[in-house]
Amino acid sequence: MAQHDYDLFTIGGGSGGVRASRVAASYGARVAIAEERWFGGTCVNVGCIPKKLFSYAAHFAEAFHDAAGYGWSVGEPTFDWATLRANKDREIARLNGIYENLLAKAGVAILRGRARVLDPNTVEIGGRRHTARHILVATGSHTVVPQVPGHELGITSDNAFFLDRLPASVLVVGGGYIAVEFASIFHGLGVKTALAYRGERLLRGFDAELGGKLAEELAKKGLEVLLETDPAKLARGAAGIDVTFRDGTTRAVETVMFATGRKPNSAGLGLEAAGVGIAADGAVRVDRYSRSTTASIHAIGDVTNRINLTPVATAEGMALAKTLFRDEPTAVDYDNVPTAIFAHPNVATVGLSEEQARGRFGKVDIYRTSFRSLLHTLTPNQERIFMKLVVDAATQRVVGAHMIGPDAGEVIQGIAIAVKLGATKAQFDATIGIHPTAAEEFVTLREKSA
Ligand code: FAD
Repeated sequence: MAQHDYDLFTIGGGSGGVRASRVAASYGARVAIAEERWFGGTCVNVGCIPKKLFSYAAHFAEAFHDAAGYGWSVGEPTFDWATLRANKDREIARLNGIYENLLAKAGVAILRGRARVLDPNTVEIGGRRHTARHILVATGSHTVVPQVPGHELGITSDNAFFLDRLPASVLVVGGGYIAVEFASIFHGLGVKTALAYRGERLLRGFDAELGGKLAEELAKKGLEVLLETDPAKLARGAAGIDVTFRDGTTRAVETVMFATGRKPNSAGLGLEAAGVGIAADGAVRVDRYSRSTTASIHAIGDVTNRINLTPVATAEGMALAKTLFRDEPTAVDYDNVPTAIFAHPNVATVGLSEEQARGRFGKVDIYRTSFRSLLHTLTPNQERIFMKLVVDAATQRVVGAHMIGPDAGEVIQGIAIAVKLGATKAQFDATIGIHPTAAEEFVTLREKSA
């Protein structure tokens, strides 16, 4: 008779937990998964997927406008938020079902409710105890809002997906990817939108040129970007909310959305009592195999605050299943993880920023270009595409690729393979472009700009 009820007990049915559980079950492990809310977690329900659907919706505004240059007259377009929300909700419900089905088909026991760790091999859920050889904490993260007076009047991305109606005006607070994405979504859907960020430049942590150039592009589209601007107080007002900024200026808006960061969901799970180390930022401390300071407890995804992206969480889940149940210790390689920001225009990046590359290699070659796309030669749209390659001068390896422009994520995903494989600038140059595309510029950048 087995010593434990399960080989693996996963807490959290999001990107990481579902993948780890399914793969572990496919290796023959007896697996249970606990989810207190929705299967699919943040990404499917209040993250990547509904956000991208909203981003598509917002893009139509520009497309209708641009179409005139190509001879189309589309009349005055109107937008119905209730239709978008209902269609989005229907699609998300379908995905929830798919996730649950995949787990059930893989033979994973599904338990609904909030789970807690009682000891290194016991989990409690709904008053019942379950023992497991391994416990996986895949509980994700939650939004963090600055504790200024009146902060409770604001919303976060969690609420933005379910608004009863679109506000007439919104102030998005924050300068990270979620802030610029939601500001672009609201603006595209016709909401008078301002973005306030306390820093000097958007997209901290990315190549410095991206934040600056994105701010220019947003402003060109009529989205107000307020840098070094930080709300000090929110109060109810005639328009909805009166915001007072730290410099004493004020602004009346209907809605304030905070996109001011996230924190790992590690509290209240009984982890410390089970010997699991938690870092100052709330992240579960893990080694490169996602094992916590308690040998039988592991953690993956946002709760470990490594690189908080869905494909990283799923890669960690897969690696953990191999490590535990296939006798193949597998660590995720965090170098050259590509990422996209679905602002309008899109931004995408892989590898090192120019600043990071200079810090690591000393001498780097920079290639960059900025141009209007062929599409916009017949439209009044002044959007410019920006591309940049960062090359280690000594080895001539391309160590960073950055882009602002339509479908930047689609372009950079392909470039990421080359960067991951260590391609040199000469190998980029030897690649024949696809004409006429924007992406071909990445293989025709001949002039060094620094
Ligand atoms: P989650 O997906 O958050 O899953 C954790 C699950 O655990 C949740 O379902 C939760 O209900 C459950 N849970 C928590 N505690 C318990 C408990 N005690 N008992 C039972 N269940 C519990 N990433 C991208 O790659 N691309 C994007 O475009 C992108 N866009 C994003 C947009 C937004 C607005 C946000 C907020 C995030 C976005 N992300 C994106 C990040 C991505 O969603 C996360 O990195 C990813 O979901 C992390 O997966 P996870 O498994 O760690 O956690």
